[in-house]
Amino acid sequence: MVRTRFAPSPTGHVHIGNIRAAIYNWLYARRHGGRFLLRIEDTDPERSTPEAVATVHEAMEWLGLQPDEPPMYQSTRRQAHLEAAERLLAAGHAYREDKGGTGRGKCLVFRMPGTDMVFHDEIKGDLRKPAADLRDFVIVRSDGHPVFHLANVVDDIAMGITHVIRGDDHIENTYRHVALFQALGADVPRYAHLPMIVNAKGKPYSKRDGAAYVGDFRDRGFLADALFNYLALLGWSPGDDREILTREEMATCFSFEGVQSSPARFDERKLLWMNGEYMRKMPLEQREAQHIADLRKHGLWRDGDDLAYVRRVLEIMGDRIKLFSDTAAQTIYFFTDNYPVDEKVFQKTLLCEGAVQYLTDLAVRFDTLPEFNAAALETTVRAYAAEHNVKLSRLVHPLRAAVSGTDVGPGLFEMIEVLGRERTRRRIARAIERARAGASPTTDVS
Ligand code: GLU
Repeated sequence: MVRTRFAPSPTGHVHIGNIRAAIYNWLYARRHGGRFLLRIEDTDPERSTPEAVATVHEAMEWLGLQPDEPPMYQSTRRQAHLEAAERLLAAGHAYREDKGGTGRGKCLVFRMPGTDMVFHDEIKGDLRKPAADLRDFVIVRSDGHPVFHLANVVDDIAMGITHVIRGDDHIENTYRHVALFQALGADVPRYAHLPMIVNAKGKPYSKRDGAAYVGDFRDRGFLADALFNYLALLGWSPGDDREILTREEMATCFSFEGVQSSPARFDERKLLWMNGEYMRKMPLEQREAQHIADLRKHGLWRDGDDLAYVRRVLEIMGDRIKLFSDTAAQTIYFFTDNYPVDEKVFQKTLLCEGAVQYLTDLAVRFDTLPEFNAAALETTVRAYAAEHNVKLSRLVHPLRAAVSGTDVGPGLFEMIEVLGRERTRRRIARAIERARAGASPTTDVS
């Protein structure tokens, strides 16, 4: 039976590259009716604090990557690691050495077989290394501490791991690990080394490039299913052009053939798009509740506020909001007059010739509309453009800036309808005032 494992060293953060390895282990186990296990490699007492270990569990739980058996904690396995080392010593696969001749005790060194080595990687093909580059290495330090390579292999044997799926930064270690499995008389697992995740410049993707840890994405309001889907497809393809797949769909077609061997480029825009897709798939009420939670968090919503109004706002926003946590920022001008004004946009659209006059005239026409709705507003603006022989854009850009303070948002006329006559009048008047104060005489024709 296939048995895979995720074997993180807890550091307080779970990098997306690591969790993607966990996802592939999970998918591979599901695909083959096997088991997905967790081993916490917590032998470094300084980094592996209880909080750091908890971070791993939280990340996995959030992403729905529950292991099929209780986790193994490497720190509890010291005895087994040392016993294995003794066996290697007894069989002549290891020797004691007084490194540096300090006399402070001897470490235990593993004797590499002395032959060229080759192992098959499910993603990268056959990987080989000449004997001359394969040096003996320490497996137990002189202070009695088992080294990573020994612990990793001994525990993989104990857990019955059949497939080791991990980052390709471990390839160099794998030659040593293969030799250890053989010396311990165990079956060598199959290996699949995953290409790393890189930034736009092709360098390893890190905190400096943006959100890099699972917790960052959760805090920014990404949905777990969207991140799971995105990371699964970051370096793996189901073989067709599907991009939105459920876990079950992925599990039925996951294979190493579909994993690319070159680095995978992290693209936050694509992740945002995917998050938006997942938001849209949520039941309406759940989605609304999440948007409202963000509005509430930013003081834009109180219990008892007009639900129908929020619904109208969300409706005309369509799929423009890709993160629940962006709701308030993207819709603030619907809820308060005290919204930020993008100065650049304001200058570009309102301090140019004619803008103040156009707004003044349009405000008058808006005021006399029998029905203040999108269709009537649009007809009015178009008619004005035709009469004055100006391009529609010369009217809609200043209008949008005047009523929302920005140049992005939903359809202008729907937006003005939702804002309503009063607010629109007030905002246009305020914008005109500001433009008059800020405009130079040569550009202000009013
Ligand atoms: N703790 C190691 C790491 O996080 C183990 C890697 C592995 O064997 O999967 O890099």
